[in-house]
Amino acid sequence: MLEIKNLHVKLEEEDKQILKGVDLTVEAGKVHAIMGPNGSGKSTLSYVLSGRDGYEVTEGAATLDGTDLLELEPEERAAAGLFLAFQYPVEIPGVGNMTFLRTAVNAQRKARGQDELSATEFLKVIREKAKALKIDAEMLKRPVNVGFSGGEKKRNEILQMAMLEPKMCILDETDSGLDVDAMKLVADGVNALRDEGRAFLVITHYQRLLDHIKPDVVHIMSDGRIVKTGGPELALEVETNGYADFLEEA
Ligand code: ADP
Ligand code: MG
Ligand code: MG
Repeated sequence: MLEIKNLHVKLEEEDKQILKGVDLTVEAGKVHAIMGPNGSGKSTLSYVLSGRDGYEVTEGAATLDGTDLLELEPEERAAAGLFLAFQYPVEIPGVGNMTFLRTAVNAQRKARGQDELSATEFLKVIREKAKALKIDAEMLKRPVNVGFSGGEKKRNEILQMAMLEPKMCILDETDSGLDVDAMKLVADGVNALRDEGRAFLVITHYQRLLDHIKPDVVHIMSDGRIVKTGGPELALEVETNGYADFLEEA
């Protein structure tokens, strides 16, 4: 589903190479995790895939189901089925969560050549999904992320993901601020959305998240490259021994 080949990325503003040949293939139905020390380029990889400004691809390719992602605008990537959960969700005062989601869903449906959902249809879908994810209906009426607790923001992020029905979900859950409850929320959300036609790339600093998500494949990233790929046991090795062994091997 997602195929990254020899991806090299530098900062646009500076002559600084961050990704130095990333190779990664994520198959449909699978959950892949990327771990790695701080500064190894994990977030940069997710930003580049989502089309964020400030980065320049100098070599390599990234495709989603055969479509060249790097040629597309960020919204076209989303329409093609890519979803990136933001590490720091934006607050949008004055815009109700429900309105925001309906606009997002319908914009995406339009881009995919599907009919927009009517207010009634949308309400039915969002209620079902919110219920499945144990999200309080009250949260749907509040302005997007304003005054949401960390846990509520996480819940909302998972709801966005469920509503947009992406094929490829990228979650960048780094070091800061994920307590055990929030971690479980993310894991439950991912597990609920696991599907043969959908794949996940979960970027994380901590092995603990992977206790709940159970990835099929674990990659270790260091200095802009994937230096080791293995099964879930890799995450346990990191938990016990840290990254030093992998970095030496690399
Ligand atoms: P990780 O998510 O693995 O911690 P990042 O992708 O955030 O790593 O960062 C990789 C490296 O690139 C770091 O050395 C970081 O300082 C640098 N970097 C990333 N984005 C920028 C930027 N916009 N300006 C300057 N340095 C950056
Ligand atoms: Mg970091
Ligand atoms: Mg990061």
